[in-house]
Amino acid sequence: MSKRIAVYPGSFDPITNGHMDIVERGLEIFDEIVIAVARNSEKKSLFTIEERLHLIAEAHCNDPRVKVDTFDGLLVDYVVNQGARVILRGLRAVSDFEYEFQIAQMNHKLRREVETLFLMTSVPYGYLSSSIVKEVACLNGPVETLVPPIVRAALAEKCRKMKEE
Ligand code: ADP
Repeated sequence: MSKRIAVYPGSFDPITNGHMDIVERGLEIFDEIVIAVARNSEKKSLFTIEERLHLIAEAHCNDPRVKVDTFDGLLVDYVVNQGARVILRGLRAVSDFEYEFQIAQMNHKLRREVETLFLMTSVPYGYLSSSIVKEVACLNGPVETLVPPIVRAALAEKCRKMKEE
């Protein structure tokens, strides 16, 4: 039987425990998950693409079922090139729904064979986003329950450098 592969796309600026929870639960359904960092995201980022890839890889401790990559261009084309048919996304509040709904419909229109699968956030992570984590970290707030230890250290370093500039 061929491997069931899902692509989990996003900005991951930086990866949080909310993202990791989606990956862990996704691995109960799929044999392999490709975490794909979008190169052409319009969001202004704190970490470079290379830094984000490094943090994701370290956070997953080299689990062979988790691949880390980047993509640009159409996500659905990337998904098919990876031998996958599923886009994995997480849903938090209702506010996520509108955007996710539009993107999922457009992606399905572009490639009928590609489906988007949503996993609801786990209760402790419902409020958690990369943006909130960055804000709290740069105000010296505690983030140890929100991100993996390597990300916590990287955030502290980034925020320190930003303050020096
Ligand atoms: P994007 O810029 O594509 O939204 P993000 O890195 O912010 O990228 O998020 C990637 C995916 O992970 C999205 O589907 C988002 O809804 C989901 N996600 C982010 N944080 C959480 C969380 N705390 N719980 C569940 N899903 C989450």
